Amino acid sequence: MKKKVNKIGVLCSGGDSPGMNAAIRAVVRTGIYNGLEVYGIMRGYSGMVENDIIRMESRSVANIIQRGGTILKTARCKEFMEYEGRKKAYENLKAREIDGLVILGGDGSFRGAQTFSNEFDIPCIGLPGTIDKDIAGTDFTIGFDTAVNTAVEAIDKIRDTADAHDRLFIIEVMGRDAGYIALHSGISTGAENILIPEKKTDINYIIESLLEKERRKKLVNLIVVAEGEDFGGADELAKVIKEKIPNLETRVCILGHIQRGGSPSCMDRLIASRMGYHAVECLLEGRHNVFVGIVNNRMHYIPLNEAVKKKQRISEEWMKIVRILAT
Ligand code: ADP
Repeated sequence: MKKKVNKIGVLCSGGDSPGMNAAIRAVVRTGIYNGLEVYGIMRGYSGMVENDIIRMESRSVANIIQRGGTILKTARCKEFMEYEGRKKAYENLKAREIDGLVILGGDGSFRGAQTFSNEFDIPCIGLPGTIDKDIAGTDFTIGFDTAVNTAVEAIDKIRDTADAHDRLFIIEVMGRDAGYIALHSGISTGAENILIPEKKTDINYIIESLLEKERRKKLVNLIVVAEGEDFGGADELAKVIKEKIPNLETRVCILGHIQRGGSPSCMDRLIASRMGYHAVECLLEGRHNVFVGIVNNRMHYIPLNEAVKKKQRISEEWMKIVRILAT
């Protein structure tokens, strides 16, 4: 028989991503609509361990759908990695009779949720919140669309100055393990080359193609590099290019944390709202210990223990498109 939930908690864990607030709002309001009491847990699993938990009303989430970051704050929590920490967290939830959790975060946070719900009788539902879009089992993650659009906006501006001065710009975007931000933003801004962790960087090819473009007097070039690319990132690349082609004016721009913040895009608000609604539905229906994904525009429910970082398989066609369109 399904165990009825009455009081649920919602938290953000790991890195923040734009759209988390829209998801919190959806969870709180769908919960209240269904007669549940909803609690906000502050700073990820730390709030569970330290009993930093607040009652959420419909008004608590007013005017947040358009804001980046998260009103509940987020954190990494060492104590939750240990059984003792998780036990303390459980006791705090039990004392408030919280009997269901919605966790916004990445694969690490989902693994924590899985371990916790195996040890204690509190069902957990995950919502994929990460700008890197590197979780297998969903076409979208909350925050990716905003982050990639922020990168595109910044690269467009850099292109203006690259064009004015006939320069090569090497732009480093976020993505330690996954190259989605680099690939999507690079294609969308007409980059000459896109370097990602999933593909070995061929420095000879890059030098050769820059020399060839120089011969044709094509002097404005953009290379978009994901931070986890194997050659050593934008600075290392610039150093080698400077050695090999000293007359090429080269500049490096590392976009960094601007990609994490800012008002979420329409797409991120939409998927966060849909996923938040479905997370509460899962708890009500007794569909436990899954995370909510969207595949081909339909909701999918993937067991938390299957949450893994996704490595994309880069189709050669994508790289061919990059080469052809950048000539
Ligand atoms: P992300 O969710 O973005 O992948 P992390 O991997 O840093 O981020 O995980 C966030 C938090 O989730 C950790 O600080 C920890 O509190 C919890 N966590 C991660 N992995 C585990 C695990 N195997 N067991 C228990 N808790 C975990």
